[in-house]
Amino acid sequence: MAILVINAGSSSVKFTLFGPDGKTVQAAGIVERIGFDGTRLKYRSREGQTLDHLVPVANADQAVGTILAALTHKAHGVIGSIQEIVAVGHRVVHGGESLTHPTVIDDRVKSVISEYCRLAPLHNPPNLAGIEAGERHIPDAVQVAVFDTAFHATIPPHAFLYGLPRRFYTQDRIRRYGFHGISHQYVSEEAARFLHLPVEGLRMVTCHLGNGCSMTAVKGGRSIDTSMGFTPLEGLVMGTRCGDIDPAAVLHLMEHHHLGPAAMNDLLNKQSGLLALAGIGSNDLRDVISAADGGNLEAAVALDIFCYRIRKYIGAFAAAMGGLEVLVFTAGIGENSPEVRRRVCAGMEAAYGFGIVLDPQKNALASNRARAVQAETSRVKILVVPTNEELEIARETLRILSG
Ligand code: ADP
Repeated sequence: MAILVINAGSSSVKFTLFGPDGKTVQAAGIVERIGFDGTRLKYRSREGQTLDHLVPVANADQAVGTILAALTHKAHGVIGSIQEIVAVGHRVVHGGESLTHPTVIDDRVKSVISEYCRLAPLHNPPNLAGIEAGERHIPDAVQVAVFDTAFHATIPPHAFLYGLPRRFYTQDRIRRYGFHGISHQYVSEEAARFLHLPVEGLRMVTCHLGNGCSMTAVKGGRSIDTSMGFTPLEGLVMGTRCGDIDPAAVLHLMEHHHLGPAAMNDLLNKQSGLLALAGIGSNDLRDVISAADGGNLEAAVALDIFCYRIRKYIGAFAAAMGGLEVLVFTAGIGENSPEVRRRVCAGMEAAYGFGIVLDPQKNALASNRARAVQAETSRVKILVVPTNEELEIARETLRILSG
C-alpha cells in the first residue's frame, strides 16, 4: 500500500510516494520545465537511486505517466505495480469558501475547483490537470484534494473583509483567503508537538519565508489572520512580489505609465520585491545578503525592508491574539537564514513586553530538524521548524482513508 502526493504547478509536477504509514518516503522528485525546452525528470528512491534526464513530456498527464513509470520501473522503482497506490493526495491552491477541508474528489468537487480558477488563474488550472491525470492513470485509487486556503477558513469576518462596498464580497467573493495554509498548519502542529504543549493553549505567529512569504496568527491551533489576501500578493515583501502597497499607487502607475491590468499584474508579482529593491538581478536572498555584505547599499536597504515588514506583522498579530507564546520560522529563508532571524528579532527583546530574545549560538547552528533558538531569558519560544507540505498532504489523505 502506498500514498502518492502530487503537486501540479504551471510548469512542473512534484511527487512524493509514501509507504503505508503515510510518513516514510519511498521515492520523490519532480518533472520540471513542462512546456519549455529541456523538460526533465528528477527522481530519488529510498535506496538513494537517482534519475535526472530529459523526458518527452508536454503536459501534466504525460508527466504523471512518466512518474508512474519511474515508480514501477524494474531497476529503480519502489513499487511492483500501480495497484499498490491506494490514494493520491493532490495539493490544490484555492478551495474558496466552500472547500475548507481535505475532500475526496468527485465531479462536484472538480467543478468547484474549476469555478475557483477565476480566483486563482495561475494555480487551480494546473492543479486540476494534475487531478485529471491522477484519475486517468490510477483509476482505482481514492483521489483527495488538500487545499492551501483551507487552514485559513477559520479567519473571522473582521479579519477577512476588506473596507469595500459589501456587494463586492457577496457578488464577487472579494475577501482575504490566505495561502500557504498546508505549511502554516503543519509547522504550527509540529511546534506544539516539539514543545510538548497542547496547541489549544498557544498563541503562535508562523513565518513561512520562501520565494513566496506569508505569516499567520495561529490561536489555539486555528488561523485567525494571515498576511496574504485575496491573492498571494498581499503582505510581506517577497522574492518578486511587492506585498502591501497603497492601491492608489497602483492606480497612479497604471494611469501615468499606461500600464494595463496584465502588465501591472506582471510588475507587482514578478518584477517587484527583493528582485526590484536590491537591483542585482536576483531574487535569491543569499545573493541579496552577499551583495549587502559587499557594500551594496540598495541590497542592504532591500534586506532591511524585508525584515522590517516581518517584524511589523509579528507586532500586529501578537496584538490581534492578545499575546504571543511561540514564534515559528519555516521555508527556505526561515529555516536557513540565521541572518534574517537575527534581524527580525533584533530590538524585540523587551518591546511591549514581548521578550523575543534569540540565542546567537543556537540561531547560528544549521540543522534540518525542528529546534528552539531562543535565549534562556526569552519569554517567547522561537522555533525553526522545517516545513513539509507533502507529509501534511499525505497525513490528511490517510486521515480521509481511515474515515
Ligand atoms: P519556494 O517558495 O519556491 O518553495 P523555498 O521555500 O524553497 O521557496 O525558498 C527558496 C528561497 O530560500 C530562495 O530563494 C533563497 O532566497 C532562500 N534560501 C535558501 N537557503 C538560504 C540560506 N542559506 N540563506 C538565505 N536564504 C536562503
